[in-house]
Order: sequence, then structure tokens, then C-alpha cells
Amino acid sequence: MATATRKNEEVLAKYEPVIGLEVHCQLLTATKIFCSCRNRFGDAPNTNVCPVCLGLPGALPVLSRRAVTLAIKAALATRCTLHETSVFARKNYFYPDLPKGYQISQYERPLATEGYVEIPSGGALRRVRVQRIHMEEDAGKLLHEGFPWSGEKSGVDFNRSGVPLIEIVSYPDLRGSEEAHDYLSALKSVLLYAEVSDCNMEEGSLRCDANVSVRPRGAEAFGTRTEIKNLNSFRNVARAVDYEVARQVAVLEAGGRIVQETRLWDADRGETASMRSKEEAHDYRYFPEPDLPPLVLSREWIEEVRASLPELPAERRRRFVEEYGIPEYDAGVLTLGRDVADYFETAARTSGSAKAASNWVMTEVLRKLKEDDRPLASCPVSPERLAETIRMIEAGTISGRIAKDVFERMWATGDAPDAIVEREGLVQVSDEAAIQAAVDAVVAANPQQVETYRKGKATTLGWFVGQVMRRTGGKANPQVVNSLLKKSLGG
Ligand code: ADP
Ligand code: MG
Ligand code: ZN
Repeated sequence: MATATRKNEEVLAKYEPVIGLEVHCQLLTATKIFCSCRNRFGDAPNTNVCPVCLGLPGALPVLSRRAVTLAIKAALATRCTLHETSVFARKNYFYPDLPKGYQISQYERPLATEGYVEIPSGGALRRVRVQRIHMEEDAGKLLHEGFPWSGEKSGVDFNRSGVPLIEIVSYPDLRGSEEAHDYLSALKSVLLYAEVSDCNMEEGSLRCDANVSVRPRGAEAFGTRTEIKNLNSFRNVARAVDYEVARQVAVLEAGGRIVQETRLWDADRGETASMRSKEEAHDYRYFPEPDLPPLVLSREWIEEVRASLPELPAERRRRFVEEYGIPEYDAGVLTLGRDVADYFETAARTSGSAKAASNWVMTEVLRKLKEDDRPLASCPVSPERLAETIRMIEAGTISGRIAKDVFERMWATGDAPDAIVEREGLVQVSDEAAIQAAVDAVVAANPQQVETYRKGKATTLGWFVGQVMRRTGGKANPQVVNSLLKKSLGG
């Protein structure tokens, strides 16, 4: 078995995965893209509909300015070139969720092209190129379960029909499931910073198809790709890519060839299965949408949107490294979400110690939020309070060890750190006489270890420090403990 696994890995290592992602993202507008129906998830089926989004004959679409503004914002945030003129087209196909029999999309002349998203790569950042961003309308949703009649028939909810979408297509620049995951996570972060979408994958505001191929390592030409659909989480994207890469390698190793096709990911079985081959692929018969004029963007409009963009995650990450001197990795974690980045900056500035603030946020704050499964918005410890705690450590009022307890109590009670320290008598002991007494007691009680230490095993000093700290309930000043111990042990 172990040999078989190693053999598999060796075979896999001969090939390089190549992945390009197509991401659909719902825009955070109040209304739909071509009518004034409400754009809201979770309303009772078919309550947000009108002749336009139901595709009734004679109803005419009117493009939402707000949707275009958000699409421009997404394009600028991904550093794309915006095209002054883009054109809407009809993409024709038949499916019960598509009342008009066509989807209004953009095809030959999309809104924007040639951008990039930066992903972490060996401590720095690397660009994954975006090929295009175009605007389109969402389709309705088929309801197969959850109703008394679900045994016999399916329903259609048109609330989603006409919800504004952008599709963001990457170049095949990704080289494995981990990079695919990193790209999605970076893209989501950018879209959230720009407030373009809520990017909620469970509610379908962010959806992803993965194009996967493999090529022998060192080869220039790409292999034939398959497109995988039905990926409903980042984890499933990574799993499906891994599965598909292994499947394609096995086919090639057995002397077969890859068929260009669309495959469906089955999360329960953990595999992909063929849905339709290229021969049966849709011919969408695209043609220009006659009911909508070309979309023309003015300079002023683009500049106005540009001015509204916040500092984006990659810039913020670079600034954090420069301004606060924290490691690239930490800056990456701290800037993934805008709220965490804001929290860190407040704690860093208020405490005057960015390194400590970064450590506290990265370890304690994020850990506790995860444990409690709550968002940062409801964090019981404000960044100012965290900063106060850090200042108490740096002033020597409490030890780093005790600070952890103070933090736990702040989290549980919402009290201020100085109140907790005073109430619980946690002030750090720096008084030499008191600490010397503890040192003497530890030295007297452990002749064996003293012997070892004196024979030259300086590494046991840490053990002695631990013993003295225990005796003082963690309150002794570690620097004082260290120097008194060295003196007493004759180091
Ligand atoms: P289509 O219009 O048929 O969907 P595109 O050329 O627009 O084809 O590509 C769609 C997606 O497939 C893009 O994300 C692109 O990066 C990706 N892609 C193209 N060729 C390959 C390949 N050989 N391997 C993996 N992904 C690929
Ligand atoms: Mg495609
Ligand atoms: Zn409508």
C-alpha cells in the first residue's frame, strides 16, 4: 500500500496541473439588473418578479446604473482595463429557469479585460491574470425539494432571475488545487474590500467553475481541459481539482487521451462525472441584444468609481510589512478581511507596538473568534482594550503569561484590563526580595537539577524559570527571575 501510494505520487509528479477559474459573482444592488424588482436572497418564491424578469413578451430591459457602477468597481479592483464601449448579447439556450429562452450577457465585447489578482507565493505576492470581466443577468432557481408536492414535480423561483452578475474569468495561470484555493480567497477578499458583493457561497452570491488540464512537467503546450461545475465551496474546488488532476493523469498514463467535456463534481462521492462532451456542447447562437444600446462608460464615471475604491488587500498587506515591520505571512492573514485589518491597525497604533498587536490578533483574537464562531463585529475585546493590555505588559505591570489570563477574562466579562488586574491582584512582582525567596526555595528543593546545571547543562535554566514562575503564580517578572536564578545557581 505504502509503495503503491509512493508510486502514485511519483507518477503525479511527472505532470503539472493547469487551472483556469470562471467565477460568477452577484452584485450587491438593491434591485435587479434590467428591472426595478428587489434583489434579495431568501424571500418567498416568486415575490420579486415583474414582466421584465419573467421574460413576458413585449417587456423591455433597462440597464441599472448601480449594477454597472459595481461592475466597474470590480474591474478596477482587479486592475482590469475598462472598455469605453461594451455590448450586451443574447446567449440562447432552453432550460426551465430561463423564461426568455436566452440570457442577456456580454460576449465579444466585454466590460473589461486584462487584469490580475495577487496571491501569496513563497512569502511574496504573485499575479494571477484575469482574462475578462463581463456583466450578465442571473437565471431563476429550480426547487426540487422542501415542498408538499416535491415528490411529483419541481418548482421554479424567479426571484433570482435578473439578479446582476459579473463573470470573472482567469487565465490558466494556476498550478494546483492550493493555488486555485488561494486565488479564490484573494479574489473574494478584493471583492469584499470593494463592497461589490457579499460573496456568500452558501447563498450562491459567489459561484465557481474550474477548468483543469495537465501537461508533462517542462512541456510548453497545454493539455486538453475539462470544465468542472457544481463547486459550492472553496474546499470542494480544491478537492475536485485534485480528483480531476489524478483522473487525467491516470487516463494519460494508461495510454488514453483526455476528452474535452463538462464534468459535474459529486461532493458526497468525492468524484467528477461526465455531464456532456464537446460534441454535445451548447451552441449558444450569441447575437447582439437589440433591446439594449451599447454600454458606454464616460471618463468621469470611471474616475468617480476609482475615487471610491478603498485601499485594497494587496496594497494594505505591502504597507503593513513596510510601516509596521511585520512578516509577509502575518500581513497576509491580517489583511484578508477589512475588519481584521482595521482592528489590527487600531490596536497597533493605540499600543504603539505593532509586533505585539499582530501577535495578539493572529493568535488570541482570531482563535477566540473561531472558537466562539462569531464575527469580529461582535468581538467582546475592543482593539483599544487589547492595546491597553499590551501597554501594561510593556510597562512591566503584568507579565506576558498573566496577560493571557487577563485577555480571557476580558473576553468573558467585557471588563477593562486594569480593572481585572486590580480586582484579581495580578500585578507583576518585580520585587527582588520576594522573587529571591521563591528562587531559594526552588534551588533548595531540587539538588539533582542544580547539579546538572552546574555541570554545564545551561539548558536546564528554562526549567528553573518555570518552577519559580509556578511558585509565584506566574506573576514574577521573568527578567528578574532569570538574573536572580543565574546568580543563585552560580551561572
Ligand atoms: P470557453 O469560452 O470555451 O469557456 P475560454 O478560452 O474562454 O473557453 O476559457 C475558459 C476558461 O478555461 C478560462 O478560465 C481559461 O483560463 C481556462 N482554460 C483555457 N485553456 C485551458 C487549459 N488548457 N487548461 C486549463 N484551463 C484552461
Ligand atoms: Mg467557459
Ligand atoms: Zn423584475
